[in-house]
Amino acid sequence: MPVEEVTLTARFKVDLIDVDESAISEIYRLFGEYKGIVDELLSLAVDRHITSFVELYHARYHELRKRYPTLPSHYIFTACRCAVGIYRSFMELKRIGMCGRDRPTFKGRAIWLDDHLFRLDAESWRVLIAVHGGKWVTLRLLQGKYHDRFKNMRPGEAQLVLRDDGLYLNVSFSHMVMLPEISVDAKVIAVDVNENVITYGNNYFIERFETNEGVIRTKYFLKRRRIQSKVCSKELRAKLLAKYRGREWRRIREIYYRAAREIIGKALEVGATVIVMEDLRHLNKDDKGSEELNGRLRRWSYRKFQNVLEYQAKLHGLNVRYVSPKNTSKTCPVCGGELDPSPNGRRLRKCQKCGLEEDRDVIAVKNLTKRYYEECMNVNAS
Ligand SMILES: [Zn+2]
Repeated sequence: MPVEEVTLTARFKVDLIDVDESAISEIYRLFGEYKGIVDELLSLAVDRHITSFVELYHARYHELRKRYPTLPSHYIFTACRCAVGIYRSFMELKRIGMCGRDRPTFKGRAIWLDDHLFRLDAESWRVLIAVHGGKWVTLRLLQGKYHDRFKNMRPGEAQLVLRDDGLYLNVSFSHMVMLPEISVDAKVIAVDVNENVITYGNNYFIERFETNEGVIRTKYFLKRRRIQSKVCSKELRAKLLAKYRGREWRRIREIYYRAAREIIGKALEVGATVIVMEDLRHLNKDDKGSEELNGRLRRWSYRKFQNVLEYQAKLHGLNVRYVSPKNTSKTCPVCGGELDPSPNGRRLRKCQKCGLEEDRDVIAVKNLTKRYYEECMNVNAS
């Protein structure tokens, strides 16, 4: 059985009442300096188009080290990773047309901590944070029953996050899971995501989960447009836009989690061991895998959903396999013939060769299932 590492993030609120002044001022000093360092690295990355951590690190590490001699060096290390991460996701958003800004920005609300910069004591739920001059600051974490499950997991990295309502520590814990083999005999569930519905199943059953994601996105899109045209103050506008963007994403994420729970529940019920999804890296611009609405947005969203489902599936001992989505909505899953739009309904497709008529989402699910077995056979044959 293959063993895989899955990471889970736990969020803790830091107790700021029962803590001494000097500890807090050390932490605020870190936030200020860290922002300065990331900002500098980020603009260097943009100016020289540096997308590699190693390159950015070599370009500025020694200089920063000299300028911040008492700051633990690993802060510079994680700042490089942070800057590269921000720059890369900025480029990705830019590429798919979802970012209007010219340059990426760092808000300075988070500090990335690697295992040299924090020590977690899960018995007393206290964390030590490395600060200037080789010293450590102790913070108490507020915790509840939810956090107990992390006690036996290994903490990896963490982020210290400053929010309007306080200071938080997000810790990623890793956890080893045993996953079933990907094999030709495995029972699978294929998942297809559309604007408003997630369709899943295999050759024996098909289920639908209404997400209404498209409806929600349209609603927020209109809301943002109203804000842009009605609110004059630039500051207030940015604040409102960020607020609604956050709200929209939280709402959609909550739906994704519900959908993932339902799919996993069904998989366990029918004894499926592998979840099959489209490998979106295979999609290129001229592949009309998603002719409906905004394909770019759909793909971006789909990838977010895939992350949620993959992670939840692995936690429940299900394997995840990505298959090529090429022509899954254009080919007949029965005979391989070409599909045409059907005169009997907008979402229906009809096979020219064998006459099969089916909903396009159902066709996609059946094709993904079929492709899983084909790809398994190919691996076995070679
Ligand atoms: Zn056919």
